[in-house]
Amino acid sequence: MYAGFVAILLTLGAAMSAHAADAPSPNADQFRRLVPEDARLEKLAGGFKFLEGPVWSGADGGFLIFSDIPANRLLRWTKKDGVTVYRADSRNANGNTLDLEGRLITCEHGSRTVTRTEKDGAVVTLADRYEGKRLNSPNDCAVWSDGTIWFTDPPYGLAGRPAEVGGNFVFRLDPAAKTLAVVARDFDMPNGLCFSPDGKKLYIADSGKPRHIRVFDVAPDGTLSGGKVFCTIDKGVPDGIRCDAEGRVWSSAGDGVHIYAPDGALVGKIPVPESPANLCFGGKDGRTLFITARTSLYAIRVAVSGAAIARRQ
Ligand code: MG
Repeated sequence: MYAGFVAILLTLGAAMSAHAADAPSPNADQFRRLVPEDARLEKLAGGFKFLEGPVWSGADGGFLIFSDIPANRLLRWTKKDGVTVYRADSRNANGNTLDLEGRLITCEHGSRTVTRTEKDGAVVTLADRYEGKRLNSPNDCAVWSDGTIWFTDPPYGLAGRPAEVGGNFVFRLDPAAKTLAVVARDFDMPNGLCFSPDGKKLYIADSGKPRHIRVFDVAPDGTLSGGKVFCTIDKGVPDGIRCDAEGRVWSSAGDGVHIYAPDGALVGKIPVPESPANLCFGGKDGRTLFITARTSLYAIRVAVSGAAIARRQ
């Protein structure tokens, strides 16, 4: 009922309150501080097939890159120009992030690779095989403080092609050393991932049967330990996740964006009329939350920015 009502409002081009349907939360005060009473979820654009992979770049006055996976396009959004095509043949790009030099890192379903877009636009393959076998369909990626690229490899984008690698792993890719290592192999469907602000923790979402987010300790040599359940999503599954500057985890879920405190407690939810798949912080001050949700791109102003490390995620 609420979602339908909101859809009508949005069709009319109206903005809506992010609080209208909030359930009472034990962390309601904290939620109100993060998502002020007057914050409005805005539909920036619609009519897409299935959106994922938003990442904010501060270059050229600032712009958002995101993926329409089935439409085989990478898209670009700015307030001034709206949505334009960034790359027409994206090879079914999904997750995007930026490396330490601001270059676009992309997980591609069609090519089953992780690529880097150079400053001149050339697309370079960084990873396509593990121990000689083709990857499944890299889904989402994050860059650590040493420049290594961490990505998940569930089979969602195989589209009938046989799996070769023998599992749904999480990888650490060192583009300088040209090495690829498995860092976690006990996920059902590893999906979104993000580092804590200090880079000492890695959160990984499992969008398969567990529907939870796990947290690992990251050693200086890039190995993981721990891996306990951080939180479990109660509506839909966690797909894309991001850390804010104060160490909270913001996750996509079936009914909107869920915000979790560093101890895993639910802070609150931002309802979204379509199920979000991914999100990122961006805008000039880093305090706009962009949300890719099925056929539409949404945004809402919040009172915290993404973690510095997360601005590249
Ligand atoms: Mg994903």
